[in-house]
Amino acid sequence: MSNFQAFRVFEEDNQFSSRVVERTTEELPDGDVLIRVHYSSLNYKDALSTTGNKGVTKQYPHTPGIDVVGEVVDDRTGTFAPQNPVLVTGFDLGMNTDGGFGEYVRVPANWVMPLPAELTPPESMIFGTAGLTAGLMVQALLEHGVPTNEGEILVTGATGGVGSLAVAILAKLGYQVVAVSGKSDAVDWLKALGAQEVIGRDALGDPNRPLLKERWRGVVDVVGGTTLAAAIKSTRYGGTVTCSGLAGSADLPLNVFPFILRGVQLIGIDSVQCPMPKRQQIWQKLSREWKPANLDALSSTITLSDIAARVEAMLAGSVRGRTVVSLI
Ligand code: NDP
Repeated sequence: MSNFQAFRVFEEDNQFSSRVVERTTEELPDGDVLIRVHYSSLNYKDALSTTGNKGVTKQYPHTPGIDVVGEVVDDRTGTFAPQNPVLVTGFDLGMNTDGGFGEYVRVPANWVMPLPAELTPPESMIFGTAGLTAGLMVQALLEHGVPTNEGEILVTGATGGVGSLAVAILAKLGYQVVAVSGKSDAVDWLKALGAQEVIGRDALGDPNRPLLKERWRGVVDVVGGTTLAAAIKSTRYGGTVTCSGLAGSADLPLNVFPFILRGVQLIGIDSVQCPMPKRQQIWQKLSREWKPANLDALSSTITLSDIAARVEAMLAGSVRGRTVVSLI
């Protein structure tokens, strides 16, 4: 049994509070693999779990953290040897299973994959769930035949985790990226990541019109709502729209015209239950040919005691890029 530090969220009379507490590995849920967590990362879903969103986490007290990189302490299935460097993202980690904002996690072996050899542990958490999701969206554009040299790709929520990684990966692959951002002071930052143009949230056109002028060959959307509706209505004939998030809204106020008049395809993206073979395929690409040269510029690093303040900033929309949480 080991004692360790964890960032815990507590519920009392429908009020949620958080603090760093001491726990023991005996208090962790049953599972196959005990992992000493070295780094985690902060995702939108962690912000929701930390603030008591029951759609993400039903039972409190709880340790959020949907991403983990660390080393195996023991594995009762024998799949992983002690000290193997491993990665876990998604599944139930950090939702209703104690997650990576603690120095140890215990999880089923089929959630665990080896850390790709070309990634350092902090790099793997700069990607984290956001990187896997951005990678799945890029892969969907490629699988739907979106060429790199035939028009612009729109990325919404561009200064966020998924958005900023999508901008950087698409630019690396040679796509012409137009970034939508609500942060007017982030234009230079987004251009440094590879965006050719940065536009404001209002510049997508009137979402109430049945169709808008054709512009996008492909779309990476994490915002949903009227942003996604306007993006779909301005996608070019035969274009592909990928959708993974609801940072703006879970609604989609739309009509069928973009689909039946322009043959636009709308592809849903889920990274949480993504099957292990596809997951490993995307991680291999993230670690090699898709890895942006400026990955470090995308992130900042905090510790457990900084999480509550960073969650507040994330929900207020003032965080840029990715936040890595160091637990070593
Ligand atoms: P972040 O908070 O890092 O980024 C979200 C970005 O969206 C913000 O930075 C902001 O960018 C923009 N945004 C925020 N609020 C609004 C608003 N009201 N209207 C328009 N734009 C807004 O979150 P993540 O990148 O981690 O996640 C993005 C979304 O994707 C979330 O909804 C998350 O739940 C979802 N997600 C889904 C996954 C899946 O598997 N399907 C996996 C990972 C994430 P800017 O200021 O530049 O406009």
